[in-house]
Amino acid sequence: MNKVNIKLYDTKSGKKIDFVPLNENEVTIYYCGPTVYDYPHIGNFRPPVFFDLVHRFFLALGYNVKMVSNYTDIDDKIINKAIKENKTEKEISSFYIKNNEEMLEKLNVLPLYNRPKVSETMDEIISFVQLALDKGVAYKAKDDIYFSTSSVKDYGSLSKMNLEELNAGSRIEVTDLKHSPFDFALWKKTNDEGIKFDAPFGVGRPGWHTECLVMINKVFNKPLVDIHGGGFDLKFPHHENERAQSMAIYSSPLANYWMHVGFLTMGESEKMSKSLGNVIYMKDFLNNNDPDIFRLLILKGYYRSPLVYSEEAIETCKREVEKYRNIKKTSNLFLALNKSDKQGQLLKEYYEPFINSLADDFNVPNALLHFDLLVKNLNQAIRSKNYESALNLKFTFDKINDILGLKLATVDIDDEILNLYHQYEKARLDKNYALSDELRSELVKKGVM
Ligand SMILES: [Zn+2]
Repeated sequence: MNKVNIKLYDTKSGKKIDFVPLNENEVTIYYCGPTVYDYPHIGNFRPPVFFDLVHRFFLALGYNVKMVSNYTDIDDKIINKAIKENKTEKEISSFYIKNNEEMLEKLNVLPLYNRPKVSETMDEIISFVQLALDKGVAYKAKDDIYFSTSSVKDYGSLSKMNLEELNAGSRIEVTDLKHSPFDFALWKKTNDEGIKFDAPFGVGRPGWHTECLVMINKVFNKPLVDIHGGGFDLKFPHHENERAQSMAIYSSPLANYWMHVGFLTMGESEKMSKSLGNVIYMKDFLNNNDPDIFRLLILKGYYRSPLVYSEEAIETCKREVEKYRNIKKTSNLFLALNKSDKQGQLLKEYYEPFINSLADDFNVPNALLHFDLLVKNLNQAIRSKNYESALNLKFTFDKINDILGLKLATVDIDDEILNLYHQYEKARLDKNYALSDELRSELVKKGVM
């Protein structure tokens, strides 16, 4: 297809802008991953599922996609849990990393280019903190090391927080240790029983905002990616502080595009959180539901808006997944019964507007209109026994669904199934209804009809 003009909403510029990658035909993406101390809830999976769509979209356009997300496996919450359960931090983090990976696989999230862990980046983090001290953009306050936000001219420009208001308010406490209320710890001295690391500036643990920046620098060999993403709540202070360190130390903005994904809310506005007691764990959700249902729920909402989780929304997605699975099933059988050597063709009239909708800052609701029209016309082609039209429509259906990433698990139509189907048709023609009913229920049981 013709060259696609991609526009992304960039938090830093506050508007949709043209996407121009650092390297032609390559896109580098990093989105912040979870702290692994508990089972993840369904809200935690909105960013991974959304960025999987981004991944698949760029792949479909022929880009080499380097998609990276991290695991924060050094954290007070992990240490506390390890102490409580009399386990090592590593045992705790490995257990929840495994659970997270299982959930991602079920949700059909493509494997990432790299999945760095804080515990495997400690040498680089310690060197980075030392570099910040050497460059004079960090300072020692008592036993901790703080980053000096006043060393960055445009601090606050990413999240667009009103710093004066924040400063005057009580949200950030002014302590006598910090030079500014916005300064944050790069390194915290510790002598508790949790895991800690030796560094020239003291035994301790790193600050969260430093970890992601160092992992980006390590994985991509430079402190700059095309797209940096995460949930809305990460804009401030996390991403603001990641960027501030990168500007102060490397004079690099860390990312050319900042993409932030809205919350999954319970009811009208409640954020899903443990403290509110409204959490649904993904493992429980997937025990009772097809992963495609969750995937479709996430895809259907515009990614920057809050998305409401409700029983009705789940029911709607369930029906729609069923609709897509049914058309896949029906067309597989129809095409197998009328098999020819012909190859399907990609139908531009559906594919191009689908791609162009995604290229417009991932407007999935618009893109799905074109997919739904295709489904309707594919149904029509099968009903009117138009083989060639069905072949092309099904080919395009598969290409589009490669980007949506729905599994739509259906049975493969092999010779045994075709044989069974022919027997069923013969019984029907012979008016042997007892036999045709029996064969029909067998085909239904096998998931063919
Ligand atoms: Zn991060």
